[in-house]
Formats: sequence, structure tokens, C-alpha cells
Amino acid sequence: MDEIWRRTATKLGEELAREHFNSLPIDPLQIAKNLGIEVEALPPEKKTVSGTLVQAGNFFGIQYATYIESLGFQNFCIAHELGHYSIPGHPEKLLASGIHESHAGFTSSDRCEQEADHFAAGLLMPSFLFDPAMDKAQSGLTAIASLSSLCSTSLTATAIRYAQRTPDAVAVIISEGNIIKYCFMSDELKEIRGLSWIRKDTPLPRDTATYRFNQLQDNVLKGAATDGETNLSSWFDCDQPFDAYEEVKGLGQYMRTLTVISIDELPDEEDEDLIESWTPRFRN
Ligand SMILES: [Zn+2]
Repeated sequence: MDEIWRRTATKLGEELAREHFNSLPIDPLQIAKNLGIEVEALPPEKKTVSGTLVQAGNFFGIQYATYIESLGFQNFCIAHELGHYSIPGHPEKLLASGIHESHAGFTSSDRCEQEADHFAAGLLMPSFLFDPAMDKAQSGLTAIASLSSLCSTSLTATAIRYAQRTPDAVAVIISEGNIIKYCFMSDELKEIRGLSWIRKDTPLPRDTATYRFNQLQDNVLKGAATDGETNLSSWFDCDQPFDAYEEVKGLGQYMRTLTVISIDELPDEEDEDLIESWTPRFRN
């Protein structure tokens, strides 16, 4: 289960979306304007920050990165700064010197940065609009791609939100070279007994389509895609082998790879109880 502070930050983002929009896409630039915040683009050469929030008295300004030419990326950078502007305590904590420099995109381990990322996801993909759209979309990477264009969000941000909201058993994995950067699991997937979490910065399992895909950097840069059968036990420690489907997509300028693992069918409760009764185990 997500920690409470993550859900609180997401909720705050959703509330701000609801105050300004009743259909997708949510335009964070428009929200900033409505709030009287000045917004400007950073030059594409500026690659060290995803954005900044500036305060001088009652004046607030947002600068956002443009080194990745994608509306989804830029929207997320702006939404992240709106998070710092809106989350109680952030302006006091971050703006003592008048300027805060951000590293958005679920890569920072800093608590404020993570809160602003979850706020941004909630703002751009609020559940009251995202869930009905998700119900109409297909599944896996196809659903993520169509939701990404509907929400004007990056594939990565959309995939993470999809893992949070889908009723299906799904894992979203972001890798770079031979390393898994991070993994988000849907609630349904977490229900599988004995399933372990994938930790940050662990090696990519070699018997997977993603591993083979990442051996050729052009696949990543050119946004190529592949898919194949996989098994959950290739990815996670788990009590039983589960057949799964692996979809892989290169993320271009991000230099990373998105993998979506979906399981068609989980054993129903009765089967699981039966297995449980055969297997003595200790749980705390
Ligand atoms: Zn930040």
C-alpha cells in the first residue's frame, strides 16, 4: 500500500485539478495563470534542473525545463512546481532563499521532491477523470499510450499512474541499460502471496525481452517496441510461477526503457486457499 503522505500529495493535486478543469487534458500552464503565477520556459541547454519555483514577496514564478521536447515532460515539470506552491509547508521549507531548484520525475529520493511528483501525477491525471478514461481504454501498453495522449502526460508518468489505478495485476518497470531504476506494482499484483518487491538499482533479469531490447541502445533512442511471453518468477521472488505478458518500449530522449508486465488470470481465491493449506508458513 502506498504510504499515506504519497496519497495525501496525490489528493491535493486532484483537488487543484477539480477546481480548474472538468475534462482532460488538465493544462498546468492555465492553472498557473489562473493563480497569478508567472511561467517561463528554461532554454533547452539548461539540463541540470526540471524546473524552479521563485518567490519574491507576493510574486511567484515558475520556470520549466525544455531539454526534452515533449509536452508531457514539460507539463509534468510545471505541475511539480505547482506542487511545491500548493503543498502545505513546502514554500516555507523550500523558498527560504527565494528559489527552489527541482528534480522532478520520480528519480529523487528527497521527500519534498517525491511529494511534488505525486501531486503532479494527481493534478494531471486526477482519478475522477482518469479512471473513467481508463475503463474505456484497452489494457497494458496500449491503454497507457492512449491515456498518455488524452492527458498530455509522458508515457512514464502515465504508466505509473496506470499501475496505481488499474484493477488488473500489472507491474511497471523503468530500466536503464542492465539496471532496473524502479518498479511500481498495482494493488492487484501486490495481492499475490509471497511476491517480493523489486528494489531500486537491481540488475535486469537476463531471460527477459527487456534485457535483450536494452542491449541495443538504438532501440531505446528510436522508441522501438517489442513484446513477449514472460514469467513472474523471472522478475520477482514468488511462491508460484505465473505466466505473464511483457511489453517493452524505448523512451527516446529519456534514455530509459518502459516495461509493462501484465498477468491475464490470477488463480481464484479458492485455489489460493487450497495452496495455502498445503504450505505451512509463518507470517508476521
Ligand atoms: Zn522540486
